[in-house]
Amino acid sequence: RKWGWSLAGELRQAAARDPGRVAVIDDQDTELTYQELLDRSMRLARAMRAGLGVQPGDRVAVLCRNHPGLIETIVAATLLGADAVLVNTGLSPAQLATVAQEQQLRVLVHDDEFTERALGLPADLPRVDERAREELIATALPGELHPPERDGRIIVLTSGTTGAPKGARRPTPNGFGPLVSIIDRIPLHARDRVLIAAPVFHTWGYAALQVCFALRTTIVLHRRFDPAATLDALVRHRCQALFAVPVMLQRLMEVPAPDPRPPLKVVAVSGSALPGGLPSAFMDTYGDVLYNLYGSTEASWASIATPEDLRQAPTTAGRPPHGTRLAIVDDTGDPVTGGRVGRILVGNEMLFEGYTSGADRERHDGLLDTGDLGRVNADGLLFVDGRADDMIVSGGENVFPSEVEHLLTQLPQVREAAVIGVPDPEFGQRLAAFLGLHPDETLDADAVREYVRHYLARFSVPRDVVFVRYLPRNATGKVLTRELRRYYG
Ligand code: ATP
Repeated sequence: RKWGWSLAGELRQAAARDPGRVAVIDDQDTELTYQELLDRSMRLARAMRAGLGVQPGDRVAVLCRNHPGLIETIVAATLLGADAVLVNTGLSPAQLATVAQEQQLRVLVHDDEFTERALGLPADLPRVDERAREELIATALPGELHPPERDGRIIVLTSGTTGAPKGARRPTPNGFGPLVSIIDRIPLHARDRVLIAAPVFHTWGYAALQVCFALRTTIVLHRRFDPAATLDALVRHRCQALFAVPVMLQRLMEVPAPDPRPPLKVVAVSGSALPGGLPSAFMDTYGDVLYNLYGSTEASWASIATPEDLRQAPTTAGRPPHGTRLAIVDDTGDPVTGGRVGRILVGNEMLFEGYTSGADRERHDGLLDTGDLGRVNADGLLFVDGRADDMIVSGGENVFPSEVEHLLTQLPQVREAAVIGVPDPEFGQRLAAFLGLHPDETLDADAVREYVRHYLARFSVPRDVVFVRYLPRNATGKVLTRELRRYYG
């Protein structure tokens, strides 16, 4: 057997070709070269096998923020042919216990800050905290590692915004497909310096890591996202690229832009919709460098909007990249045309391989049903209207929260906006808008309704307008509409 295209295989390639290049820099400015990162990962793998009995096919859960230890653990697991289960750091202790049981974990590797959260897990589940991980690396016996009998897989846990967290098995790429599909649209180059701010436990951050390994870039990782520290690191490490989630851009815009600006060529975001007012404001400050990727844990990325696309249409998700097919279909599966709304189907070689338990997503003719609704305009640009399940039916009319949210975020006073449907005796559902304002701003509910009425149909006007300090969000910055619904009891 040979080493495949897994993350471990990629790291071996990178270390062979560029051993002395800095692979990763943490928030203490500690640097590890590609060779050092590989050596540490191999030591950890050998120690996990000898000390913890990790075997091919076992599941190693990783509950870590962004730092080199997270990468080492994922690589070590896959070097042994074990599956790495990437656990969302936002899970509650109860969700974590369910995950441990459903995924039949062999071991949990976690950051020290999560020690308490892991207390409720079965006592016989071995845990490795940060000191224990360092000890394993330091005391590992020497020896070669041979390609395992099976490729170690990556299992990404969904964040559970729409139900219990599910384990999605990511495919192991068997070629340059994923890399080609990203550099088809995004000008990333070998040996760039890249800050990955998106959490690596999420598909988007993990995909960024894979791309960085393939391009042998230097990766800057911070455990927590802090806008000022991120800007400082981008300048100090002369980063050409930033991988983030949309809410991080919003927070970057709330602190003064450094002068001179970081030498960014690429700021790529994914994971949730980019608020309508943000692309232009961000690009006016940081240059025409913004790329918006639409995708999901199940579909990987399905379309990419370039800075030119976003200048032309700020709410677009762009076009499918090389190797990806998109289709918009009606409920019977027939293609819809003429820019009308339908379900978004995606086909590429990065589709997930199924959940670790429960029913699979629907697939039609090799294309995966994303569960999202959207449309393609005459220029071929995709617009994602949101999850079909989030669509609001008010007085018999369909309303997409995203359309109203995009409009609301263009009010200068509004920092963030979320719209949900709430039960209404007269209309079935009515719209409720939750607004977070910029500091020292005020706005009155009637003015908000008046503004929306000016642009959209009557049934799209929120009857309820609720002002909040911050919108509740999950670890990837997605608004927790479930929490907003609680406002209504
Ligand atoms: P859950 O499925 O439990 O919410 P999750 O938050 O991990 O878990 P993801 O797979 O990350 O889910 O979310 C993918 C969804 O996010 C897409 O189906 C789409 O609705 C939305 N989304 C992601 N990127 C974009 C984008 N660029 N524009 C609009 N919507 C997006």
